[in-house]
Amino acid sequence: MRNLLVLGSTGSVGTQALDIVQRSDGLRVVGLCAERSWEELLEQARRHGVRRVALADPDAAARAAEAWTEGEVLSGPEGLVRLVTESEADLVLNGLVGAAGLGPTVAALGEGMDLALANKESLVVGGELVMALAEATGAQVLPVDSEHSALFQLIAGEPAGAVERLVLTASGGPFRGRSRDELAGVTVEQALAHPTWAMGGKITIDSATLMNKGLEVIEAHHLFGVPYERIEVVVHPQSLVHSLVQLCDGATLAHLGYPDMRVPISFALHHPDRAAVPVPALDLVEVGALTFEAVDEDAFPCLRLAREAARAGGTAPCTLNAANEVAVHAFLDGRLGFLGIAETIKAVLDRHGARPLHSWDSLYDADRAAREAAQELIGARR
Ligand code: MG
Repeated sequence: MRNLLVLGSTGSVGTQALDIVQRSDGLRVVGLCAERSWEELLEQARRHGVRRVALADPDAAARAAEAWTEGEVLSGPEGLVRLVTESEADLVLNGLVGAAGLGPTVAALGEGMDLALANKESLVVGGELVMALAEATGAQVLPVDSEHSALFQLIAGEPAGAVERLVLTASGGPFRGRSRDELAGVTVEQALAHPTWAMGGKITIDSATLMNKGLEVIEAHHLFGVPYERIEVVVHPQSLVHSLVQLCDGATLAHLGYPDMRVPISFALHHPDRAAVPVPALDLVEVGALTFEAVDEDAFPCLRLAREAARAGGTAPCTLNAANEVAVHAFLDGRLGFLGIAETIKAVLDRHGARPLHSWDSLYDADRAAREAAQELIGARR
């Protein structure tokens, strides 16, 4: 029996993970946490016999504590960290959104707990420090992101030095094929209508700007230790090829399947075993054709911004991520246009650049400064 802690359990990845747990004989949930959806969180706790939960939002935590007498409710970012360190979990699934996932990632790896990582921002913000921590404690990082789960599986059997190149596929999002001018007036509703994947709001907007793919390039670099110039992105609108690995002998390996996050989630939760997931087998005759195209970096500059921040290193990816989080929320709130997302990120990066990364504190400082700068820039545009 594997003891599992689910962080972000009311979100898209979290609810699908609990669906997998219910079908599995080998997984037991020992703790749950959410941002602020306390009623749903308590419902999950009752269903899975969990006695301890945490809510990042203190008001939501207070309400939950009042309503729930059968267990304990921890509160705030410290509560999340305590939930992790005191859980005695064998595996922590981090499905939190944004840089808020970094603290629990560090807590889990610091305790030597294996980490099923859906929170890509943990690696974008603090990849060097996070992977060094995992190395030091012997904890394993198992990617849940579909592209990285694919790469993890493709690379697993290959000897060191055989991998020449990683190719991440991108659906292209709802605005694939549009020019920069055509993107100026797009609405929140249009941006939230992802063609192939059903996900939470933040990642769906990241997919529409292609920032998601930029974050994923950084994530792949840290997970697999491959230099940035050997990580490519190709647009593949059907989202059936989840990623590819090119090897030194000219062979290219691809990972295919219908887009369903339960597949990579199940892989991470059961690794190194596999468990059945009720998804249809891929029917290539029905699919007929797979198509691929280059990214239009003029219309979607976020991928280039992410690559530039990645190459600059230090605190630059942290700054990029924080500015993006603020800009995406402003877009979702109707305070910023779609093109303003990339413009804000670029302006914040120009202002703050890359500072050396000495410690976790330099990340928290960079994160705070970037958020303040982004808020100020967005306020000044109005
Ligand atoms: Mg992905």
